[in-house]
Amino acid sequence: MNVVASIFPIYLITKLFVSNVTYLVPPNVNIHTYEPTLQDILKVKNANYFVGAGYIINPWERKITLLSNAKYIDLSKGANLIFINGEVDPHYWNSPKEVLYIYKRVLKNYFPNETGYKNIKSLDKLFENTFKTCKIKVFITTHPAWRYLARDYHLKQITLSQENYISPLELANIERAIKKYHIKAILAIPKYYSKLAEYLSKKYHLKIYYVNPCIFGNKTTTYIDVMRYNIKVFAKAMECEVKGK
Ligand SMILES: [Zn+2]
Repeated sequence: MNVVASIFPIYLITKLFVSNVTYLVPPNVNIHTYEPTLQDILKVKNANYFVGAGYIINPWERKITLLSNAKYIDLSKGANLIFINGEVDPHYWNSPKEVLYIYKRVLKNYFPNETGYKNIKSLDKLFENTFKTCKIKVFITTHPAWRYLARDYHLKQITLSQENYISPLELANIERAIKKYHIKAILAIPKYYSKLAEYLSKKYHLKIYYVNPCIFGNKTTTYIDVMRYNIKVFAKAMECEVKGK
């Protein structure tokens, strides 16, 4: 059986349940702007399954399904999607709880895997138990990739805009939140440079920590490894005790 996943986060999720999977869009690129080449599209031609983030997130996935006989599996159908001003927030893969739903509602029908299910279930427990202990329940991030995580584990995400312009009102709100919630760190993402993060970090002595929104890694990277790394970083930033492995 030959399975192709559209983008790296979808690859990581699929690989929890099926071993013979490859990706179209490689890791370490901007998944929000990258479109596959004709070469990539040809890879799907002989696949049995093509696993995607959903047409709603990657319209180019539709083009591929039209050119291939592979059965299309849309993971967004399993997630509890969040819409902001009528637009879907794509980052559902950054919440283990959503991945658990995706398995139960979608992937289980194609790739039932008891071990994979147990692994994602215990990861969800690790996140639940750890986030319950946090002294700070609010985090600041330079890329808003964690809205699903925040909703599913009762946290609050504050986003620094990536543009160089920020309105005085927006800046005042962020500075007020830093003081109110005693925020100690900013969660940054390599390659998404933020001038504002640098400014706030200096002014309020905030540490800058790096998280991985399931886009950095290589072929051998696993979802569990990425998320175990992330929970340790979140725990440092929000003063939580990592509960479990
Ligand atoms: Zn993103």
